[in-house]
Amino acid sequence: MKYFKETLYDAVCQEYRVDKLYFESKTEHQHLMIFHNAMLGRVMTLDGIVQTTEADEFIYHEMLAHVPMLAHGQAKRVLIIGGGDGGMLREVVKHPIAHVTQVEIDQSVVDMAIEYLPKHSNGAYNDARLNLVIDDGFNFVNTFAASDNEKFDVIISDSTDPIGPGEVLFSDDFYRLAKACLKSDGIMVTQNGVPFFQADEVQNTQTRMGALYRDMRFYCAPIPTYYGGFMTFAWGTDNTSASAPDAADLNHRFEALALETRYYNPAIHTASFALPQYIHKAIESA
Ligand code: SAM
Repeated sequence: MKYFKETLYDAVCQEYRVDKLYFESKTEHQHLMIFHNAMLGRVMTLDGIVQTTEADEFIYHEMLAHVPMLAHGQAKRVLIIGGGDGGMLREVVKHPIAHVTQVEIDQSVVDMAIEYLPKHSNGAYNDARLNLVIDDGFNFVNTFAASDNEKFDVIISDSTDPIGPGEVLFSDDFYRLAKACLKSDGIMVTQNGVPFFQADEVQNTQTRMGALYRDMRFYCAPIPTYYGGFMTFAWGTDNTSASAPDAADLNHRFEALALETRYYNPAIHTASFALPQYIHKAIESA
C-alpha cells in the first residue's frame, strides 16, 4: 500500500495512506496529486504539501470567506487569489455579491479539482458572477492596481505556503499592490500558516502588511490536516468598524443569509480573534 508523506518540514511529517490515486502529475507550475484516504476523503497535495481534504476543508474555507464577508456586511466585489480547489469560491458565492474575480496560477489545479474534488467547488465555477483569470496573482494585482477598474470590497489570498509559486504572495510588494486594488473600506485576509511550526509567517506578515493598514491583526482556527494546531489568518483593513462588528449585527447578517455552515458562526467569528499567548509572542517578536 502506497503512503503520501508530506514534505513541509524536515524534523516532523505526516503520512496519509493512498487508498485510491486519482491524479498525479507535474503541471506547468507544481506537482499535483489527488487521492482518496479512508479517513480524510479526497486529498489534494501540491509540491508534497497537503492543500485540502474533503474531511476538514469546511473549517478553512468558511473562516477565510465568512469572517471578512460578514464583518464587511455589504461586499459586492470580491477578489480571490489562488483557491484553485474551488472551496473558497463556493463559500464566497453564497453571499449576495455582484462579482468575484479569482486569479489562480495553475489551470490544471482548477481542472483536476473540478473533476476529482467536485464537492469543493460544488458548481461554483459555473457561477455567472465569476471572472476566472489564470495568472500569477502578483501579475494581476500589479496590473489591476494601475487600472481605473472598480476596486474590490474583499480580497482573499488563498495561496499555497510561501515557497515556490506562492512565495511572491507573501511579499511586501504584493501586499502593497493588493491594497491598491482594495476599496478604502475594504478588507484583505490571507492564509498565514501554522505559527506553532511557522512562526516566521506571522512575523513577516505583521511587518509587511502591518505597515499598510490602520488595523492589522490575526484570527485563527484549528484545521486538523494543517498539522501543528491553530492556523492563522491575516486581517488588514482601514475600516476599523469592521474589525469589531457588533455581535447583534453579525447575528442578523448570518441569519439573514441563512448560511449553511459546519464551523463558522458569529460567536466563533468573534472568538477567533482571541489568540493564545504563544501566537501573541510570535507576532510581538516581529
Ligand atoms: N488551503 C490551502 C493552504 O492553506 O495551503 C491553499 C489551497 S489552494 C489549492 C492554493 C492555490 O494557490 C493553488 O491552487 C495554487 O496553484 C495557487 N497559487 C500558488 N501560487 C500562486 C500565485 N502566485 N498566484 C496565483 N495562485 C497561486
